[in-house]
Amino acid sequence: MAERKVAGTYVFEAKNPVERTQAAKAAAKLLRQGKLVAFPTETVYGLGANAWDKAAVEKIFFAKGRPADNPLIVHISQPEQLEALASPIPDAAWLLAEHFWPGPLTLVLPKKPQVPDVVTGGLATVAVRLPKHPVALALLEAADLPVAAPSANLSGRPSPTTAEHVLTDLAGRIDAVVDGGPCEVGLESTVLNLSGETLQILRPGAVTAEEISEVLGEKCAVAHWQEESGAKPPSPGLKYLHYAPQAPLYLLRGDPKSIVKALQERQQKWEAAGKKTGLLVSAETAPFFASEYLLVLGSRTDPAGMAARLYDALRRFDHMGVDVILAEGYPATGVGLALMNRLQKAAGGRVIDLE
Ligand code: AMP
Ligand code: MG
Repeated sequence: MAERKVAGTYVFEAKNPVERTQAAKAAAKLLRQGKLVAFPTETVYGLGANAWDKAAVEKIFFAKGRPADNPLIVHISQPEQLEALASPIPDAAWLLAEHFWPGPLTLVLPKKPQVPDVVTGGLATVAVRLPKHPVALALLEAADLPVAAPSANLSGRPSPTTAEHVLTDLAGRIDAVVDGGPCEVGLESTVLNLSGETLQILRPGAVTAEEISEVLGEKCAVAHWQEESGAKPPSPGLKYLHYAPQAPLYLLRGDPKSIVKALQERQQKWEAAGKKTGLLVSAETAPFFASEYLLVLGSRTDPAGMAARLYDALRRFDHMGVDVILAEGYPATGVGLALMNRLQKAAGGRVIDLE
């Protein structure tokens, strides 16, 4: 099997079916020994541990520097495995599983007592997902375990969408990473709460509220939570700054024409002050800028494509060593809602509304 070691962390290649089977076997063995393995899913790379093994799951929090009250998502390879983790399971969960699994939808359900508290951050609910990526499925099947896995980044950094991103953050801190190439969706899963009175999306992702409503024939709300409100967040993960590049990022919202004008003004001002100014824009507005620190996310007509490239772009700004980043905003509809949600988090409050 093609493997190498980076600072003590094994890298198992899994770019074709033969490598995938071998890598899944080797990585599954490590998981069964209570070790930490990062692996690709269609959303982002996850950092996995045996969900039944409290000591193994504790190591995830240590490796990432993750606050203990931020719960993990448990990954399964067969819908029936849900029964070992959650109870009661409403019909809506099975219906959604049928429609969206394997795929980027996480369901929050009342947890069974057997699920260790460390997995759920002490909550009475557990988050479960059945991913679509062939490497994730091969690993979960070979391990024959539910695998608790948050994103495989250091806490507060952009989620990893390649094995290189994982190694940048976690080489030497985890036992292995399975390299299955870049992730297709590139943003974390949609998290849907099914344990409350009403349907609520706790975190927007590639599966939208409209799609969920259509399957269940019921209204699906998206949680809005303001840090400043002092209210308890609907999901603990919301209160932590996420997805931050090293330089401060300013997000400009408005129509494309006003955004171009406002970006150009700010670019000039920052550059005149001697700041290396990163620009994160769409293919449509890119021709209006000249800069060696310009990154194009993709066409405004393809928000899913832009989402897939976002975290890599944020990490590339880190490599360029820019002092400040100016980012174009997009309509928050469909997948654009998840894209804007992550851009807003990367901005950490530096959002400028034009007009
Ligand atoms: P990560 O995979 O790193 O994006 O982290 C998983 C996220 O899923 C957490 O930050 C939470 O926001 C959410 N989550 C996981 N379990 C629960 C739960 N039981 N209730 C609400 N949200 C959850
Ligand atoms: Mg995360």
